[in-house]
Amino acid sequence: MPTFNASSKVNSADAEVLVVHCSDHRFQAGIHEFLNQGLKLGENYDLLVIPGGPQYLTLVEYIPKFAWASGRWFRYLVEQHELKRLVLIAHQDCGWYKSLPLHLHSSPEPRDRQEEDLRRAHRWLAQEFPEIHTELYYAGWDANDQVTVEPIASQSARSAARV
Ligand SMILES: [Zn+2]
Repeated sequence: MPTFNASSKVNSADAEVLVVHCSDHRFQAGIHEFLNQGLKLGENYDLLVIPGGPQYLTLVEYIPKFAWASGRWFRYLVEQHELKRLVLIAHQDCGWYKSLPLHLHSSPEPRDRQEEDLRRAHRWLAQEFPEIHTELYYAGWDANDQVTVEPIASQSARSAARV
């Protein structure tokens, strides 16, 4: 194959946003659209795409070795790129969650487990990087198989009522 020449130029604007989402191919186009049209990021974001997405930010206590490596990548991006905003996206039918033991979460329901992890990650980030604003989202699909992305509150209705 000859060299491919993209129509896109190299983006030399600074990115202030880091997006963390899952590798699942079914959501890539929809998430890309959400980031550029929904959040209007205009391609100006760093991207960390790994199985389970933001779930890895909650693994510090369970898999310290893994958390150490992934934490280094994460810190590198946050500190070297002077990021100001984090966008964490979980998604419907995430295969990674099927590989996790159920005892890690307070509910066996996939959606509840994922929201629990988004909130855990948010708490950890608020401690470690208090200067960075974190947003939580959940991607799914509707009756027409179109990707939907909804914001998730950083506190559950239950724990908010308790406070
Ligand atoms: Zn996934």
